[in-house]
Order: sequence, then C-alpha cells, then structure tokens
Amino acid sequence: MSIQVPFLNLQAINAQYQGELEQAAKRVIQSGWYLCGSELESFEAEFAQYCQTKHCIGVANGLDALTLTLQAWLEMGKLNKGDEVLVPANTYIASILAISKNGLVPVLVEPNPNTFNIDVNNMTASLSGKTKAVMAVHLYGQLSEMEAICAFAREHALLVIEDSAQSHGATINGKKAGSFGDAAGFSFYPGKNLGALGDAGAITTNDDELANVLFALRNYGSHKKYENLYQGVNSRLDEIQAAFLKVKLTHLDNEIARRRDIAARYLSEIDNAHIRLPHVASDEAHVWHLFVIQTDVRDALQAYLLEQGVQCLIHYPIPPHKQQAYPELSHLELPISENLHRKVLSLPVDPTMTDAQVELVIQAVNSFSL
Ligand SMILES: *Cc1c(COP(=O)(O)O)cnc(C)c1O
Repeated sequence: MSIQVPFLNLQAINAQYQGELEQAAKRVIQSGWYLCGSELESFEAEFAQYCQTKHCIGVANGLDALTLTLQAWLEMGKLNKGDEVLVPANTYIASILAISKNGLVPVLVEPNPNTFNIDVNNMTASLSGKTKAVMAVHLYGQLSEMEAICAFAREHALLVIEDSAQSHGATINGKKAGSFGDAAGFSFYPGKNLGALGDAGAITTNDDELANVLFALRNYGSHKKYENLYQGVNSRLDEIQAAFLKVKLTHLDNEIARRRDIAARYLSEIDNAHIRLPHVASDEAHVWHLFVIQTDVRDALQAYLLEQGVQCLIHYPIPPHKQQAYPELSHLELPISENLHRKVLSLPVDPTMTDAQVELVIQAVNSFSL
C-alpha cells in the first residue's frame, strides 16, 4: 500500500502559513539587509518573551547553540578544559558533540526508561571532583525533572544547560522549557516543533554576562567590527529565517495543542500487548515532538505499519557510546539505554494529520499481531 500517513509532512505544515511566509520573505528581500538586523532582533525579543527569559541569542543551528554556550562558560572561567558534564546516555549525538568539541568530558548517565529523560537518581554515582555541569535533554518533547535537577546542581555547584531542541513550549507549573537552567539551547531545524525553512537555533538565558559573550561568539568573537575579544565563529541566524520564525512562533501553541490531541487519542485508544505506551508526567510538560512507543518486536511492527500505509521512524537506532565517532566511550555498559535503542519506535504525530489519519494509525497498531 502507498503511504497514507507520512511521518511528518513539512510541506503541509508550512502550506498552512503560505501567505504569511511569502509576506515575510518579501519584506526581507526588499529591505536589502540580510544578517543581524531588525528581523533577528525582534524574533529574539519575541522568543525570549515566549520562553520567559531575559535574553535570546539567535545562532545558525541547535548544535551551535549548545556548543557556543559551553564555549562562553570556558571564556568566562566558569568551566575549564577537562571538566566533566553529566548528560543522558540516550540523547541525540548533538548534545554529546557540543561537550566534546569544547574539550569537556561527557559523562553518560542512564535515563529513566519511563520518561526517556536523565534519571536524577543515577546522577550521584556519576559525580566526580571534575563534574562542573549537567546538560538536561528534554527528549521527545517532555521536560526533564527540572526541579530535582536544579536542586541537585545547586547542592553540587554545577551549571545547568537545557538541551531544549525538542521541547519548545513545554511547561511545568507554567514555567517554560529553556527558563529553568543557567542557559538553554534550541534548534529550529525544519522538523522541530518550531521549525525554520532551513537551519537556525538560539540560546535563552537570564544571565546578562553570558548573553553578552554569546552575542560576540556567534559573530567572530566580536562586539565591534574588526575588534575580536574571543576566537569566535560565524554562527548567525539569517534575517529571512528570523522572519519565517516570527510567523511560525505565532502558531506554535496551536500546533502543540493539535499534537496533544493526537497523543491523547493514541494514549487512550492504542491497545496492543506488544506495545508499551509513553509515560506522561503531566499534559503541559510534554509537547509531543515525537510519540515514542516501546516494543520487543520493532522490526516486525515497523514493517507491518508501513504495509498499512503508516510511516514510522526510530529515534535513535544507535546510542552515542556505540557510535564509531566515539571509540573512547565504547567500553561503557549502559543497559537501560541500549535496551531503549533496541525497542523505541516513533509513531506519526504531525499537527496537520486529519482525524481519519489518526484513526488509521490507531487501527493499524491495534491490528498488529505476530
Ligand atoms: C535537533 C537536535 C539538536 C541539534 O539541532 P540542529 O539544529 O540540528 O543542530 C540538538 N539536540 C537535540 C536533542 C536535537 O533533537
């Protein structure tokens, strides 16, 4: 059968806002100003307000958001090369790359298999005299237990960075993703819940000094043209992408609401002994970037669903410590993560799905048998 439910239909998502996006593009084209101008400045102000933080610093992508924040802390003397950073073992590779690229050491901590997020109870055993920071990754769109993580960090004098690339708009008691830690990195990769039409990313923080260093780092380490304070990079968020993101930010909460409706139907109507549904701490804490189930018969289920016209993907097939890029991590035994990487399967949770498509996914999953 042909695909009836694509995993994510980016064309349909952006087509909803075609007119507004064309207006935004036209405005930028006619302005004659394409980098670090009024579109970026206003997007930064609007996204900081959305995230309830004092500052937002736009950068070229989510990986740079994380990498530059850690570099800024090195420049500020808050971190030193060789310091250890706690990070969940089952995260996307970008979290780990940001740490190792800065000469810092990623210390992989097992997640809670119910929430997929870093397990605070496993953090104490990973502490050493060199531990100086923790990177909490809000995986699949669900906020980590930030109250417990921040309390742990205060107790052990650790910096906290949130990898919020999958969790724009998630809240705990009204407090937004990106506002809990000392800083947070966001990605606006097209497939993220808030996606540009190309690459983009941002850092949010309430720290004036950090924001100031980051504004320089993203622009060759320079505040003033041809005067370089740091060995920075070129990581700017284009005016045209900022203009698109301003349009899409106004629709983000609606899209999250639709994702929550779809997820709520899956949670109440999917019923199959081969499948374990995801655990949700609270409605508001999850923005359903991905709807991830666990199953012992993943290959058979994925193939069956595709036959039924439902496209599913795996996030992620290989854990970071088993990647060829990290031979220094290959000796680690992380059974919880390794088990998750064998079992996880992501069902479509695209905000443009019709009710009939949602129904089709539910029927297909429920009718699976070996
Ligand atoms: C997407 C993603 C990133 C990186 O974002 P890019 O914009 O692709 O560089 C980092 N961390 C996580 C958890 C992500 O999902």
